[in-house]
Amino acid sequence: MQELKVQETVANPYESMLARFWQAADILNLNDRARRILSVPERIFIAYIPIVMDDGRTEVFEGYRVVHSRALGPSKGGIRYAPQVDLDEVKALAAWMTWKCGVVSLPYGGAKGGIKCEPYNMSAAELERLTRAYTVAMAEVFGPDTDIPAPDMGTNPQVMAWIVDEYQKLNGKKFIPAVVTGKPLEMGGSLGRVAATGRGVMHTGLLTLSKMGLKPSDCTVAVQGFGNVGSYAAELLSHKGLKVVAISDRFGGLYNEKGIRMGDAIKYVKEHGSLEGYKDGDKITNEELLTLNVDVLVPAAVENVITAANAANIKAKLIIEGANGPTAAEADAILEDKGIVVVPDILANAGGVIVSYFEWVQNRRGHYYTEEEVNSRADNQIERAFMEVYDTAQIHKISLRKAAYVVGIRRVATALQLHGKYYS
Ligand code: GLU
Repeated sequence: MQELKVQETVANPYESMLARFWQAADILNLNDRARRILSVPERIFIAYIPIVMDDGRTEVFEGYRVVHSRALGPSKGGIRYAPQVDLDEVKALAAWMTWKCGVVSLPYGGAKGGIKCEPYNMSAAELERLTRAYTVAMAEVFGPDTDIPAPDMGTNPQVMAWIVDEYQKLNGKKFIPAVVTGKPLEMGGSLGRVAATGRGVMHTGLLTLSKMGLKPSDCTVAVQGFGNVGSYAAELLSHKGLKVVAISDRFGGLYNEKGIRMGDAIKYVKEHGSLEGYKDGDKITNEELLTLNVDVLVPAAVENVITAANAANIKAKLIIEGANGPTAAEADAILEDKGIVVVPDILANAGGVIVSYFEWVQNRRGHYYTEEEVNSRADNQIERAFMEVYDTAQIHKISLRKAAYVVGIRRVATALQLHGKYYS
């Protein structure tokens, strides 16, 4: 299998995923069968979806659903609407979901969906038509016991509500809320789901700071991305005493050494849709934000923002990966050499899928938890995973990233072995 190893990765997310997979496979001494099965997705679905736009034109959109693994259970993972969506990205994101569910011990495999589109330039009616048509195209893939989507970049609870509605229509109008998670509360969503990913970022970050002997109130933090992950992560970290000195979204960033008032920033984004025009600091670029002189850096936007080109200039002591794949594999060794601690994506942002699991359980039981119950269950689950990853890193003298892959892949590979020789 040596020839399959990616030594020098370019910034391709699937290659970044594979580079880490091979490293962990070697540490685990993974057998050849598991390497072959887990290094490729189980199934890939591609649909070309014609939609009549508001102006009468027909556009054809490319939609994907990649099921990477179902060894641990039905496949789970979000759906992304973004212009840069392509098959390699969705394949990487699907595999990361497999390892993520493995790391935090959820009874799920991994999948991801995506549609190549620019949701910010589409009307609500166009988005609804696209979402419903995508659901029809993937109707045989989705299901509460087979493959369970959720929100990701460019999608939200409303999009999930359209999916349930269309899916139920296609299935004899039965009530099947457990087919997706991240739904609005009124459609069977869970309390605590919206903030869950940011909460996990905050929680794993604080656990790591304490292991590093750093006091939250002595730390400054820069957060890249102010969507569902970044905004909650920034707010919750500021509640814990860290000083948020920089934030950004796709229009650019803001730096204020005295600290940015989180409540005001969040209110501004709610009213204006983005941080554009918000003035509580000096303008900076997304690239400049990464190399600021801060203690903690939270990349919570897109993949591949930390690369071999800028890793050497990063000054933070701790990176908490709110986004999926924000660090290209080529940058791992540079960060490690600099002694920068990285809480990897598959652990740091697992709070979202953990609460997705609680949502699915609540839908199936017909019994709903309070927000406190959801938060305390999620905190416990991510803390247990953190400790397992931390201990694994100590035992093998490896980074938290390598340890998280080892823990996640070990669980998936064990399940694969138990399925037996005829798994498919
Ligand atoms: N899209 C989120 C992630 O990347 C959530 C997935 C889910 O809840 O299924 O983890």
